[in-house]
Amino acid sequence: MSIIMKVSAGVMSIPLKTPFRTALRVVDAINDVFVRVETDDGIVGLGEAPPTAVITGDTIESITAAVLTLIAPAVTGRRIDDFEPLTEAVRRAAIGNTSAKAAVDMALYDIRAKSLNLPLYRLLGGGGAAELESDVTISLNETRQMIEDSVSAVRDGFKILKVKVGRSGLSDARRVLEIRREVGAGIEIRVDANQGWTPKESVRIIGTMEDGGCDASLVEQPVDARDIDGLRYVTRRTATPILADEAVFSPRDAVEIIRTGAADMINIKLMKTGGIREAIKICDIASIYGIPCMMGCMLESRLAVSAAAHLASSRSIITMLDLDGPMLCVSDPFIGGPLFAGSRITLTDEPGIGICDSGVII
Ligand code: MG
Repeated sequence: MSIIMKVSAGVMSIPLKTPFRTALRVVDAINDVFVRVETDDGIVGLGEAPPTAVITGDTIESITAAVLTLIAPAVTGRRIDDFEPLTEAVRRAAIGNTSAKAAVDMALYDIRAKSLNLPLYRLLGGGGAAELESDVTISLNETRQMIEDSVSAVRDGFKILKVKVGRSGLSDARRVLEIRREVGAGIEIRVDANQGWTPKESVRIIGTMEDGGCDASLVEQPVDARDIDGLRYVTRRTATPILADEAVFSPRDAVEIIRTGAADMINIKLMKTGGIREAIKICDIASIYGIPCMMGCMLESRLAVSAAAHLASSRSIITMLDLDGPMLCVSDPFIGGPLFAGSRITLTDEPGIGICDSGVII
């Protein structure tokens, strides 16, 4: 019977191959808080949280403080096999602070799976899809650069591109159409505006993309995260499926988006939900209504993205993966766990998330 004895947190930086640019920010390196949870019988669980202030409001300092002063006291001394109340204690430890909660939640799932000697996807009820396929992000740059990046991603074997737009109105449509012309019809294009357009602009831009033969498989979060009416306005007036990202953090958000018909799909990220526990609830809600989900990530290393991959493979309602964080990193400080090679993610049968940090984290 394992009891949580210690929760520690530290910061680690991993440079990105090229700067990550969206309508919201530019980032050069992953600079995340890593969490280590230890039990009295020597099981170690690992977690990670990126400071995505523009989306979750979290900073390195706020995540570290929430983990150490709010969440750690709520879980320390508890039994890992009393799992539902344990993860509920994480959720109740504070309002908000979803990234800090996600880091501890995934470490607890890691420990739970290890204590049962199961890979995490099996603990979550999955049979273990042999391989998963992720898209790759094309950062928001000059059109010529974005075309070059798209062509080179396709050359590297990527079949799904996630093209970041949202800064330049109607010329966003033109740049996506140019990318379509260059990569050809066989490549799936997902478009992410990161809240960069107004509702009316969105309808015009998406309409222009549709008329130009862009055939985007979806448009992600065209309007402000809080503008649910605006999101619904866009969803009702476009043929291209609209995916809610920044508008959906919690299961309650998912209910509202689905019940009001504000979006056709939902992007689930552990850093928005506060971890696997609440992400599963969104999967369940989406399943009831037949709303397809994407499993996404912030700028996370292979540790947190692997936890997301385990969850994605265990839920059939998750039909799209945007788990390219590890591919964007210059180096990988971890040993073991899911394999990331180009667009392919392969789960392994090691217990838990499968990743060992060999002491590099804290
Ligand atoms: Mg997004």
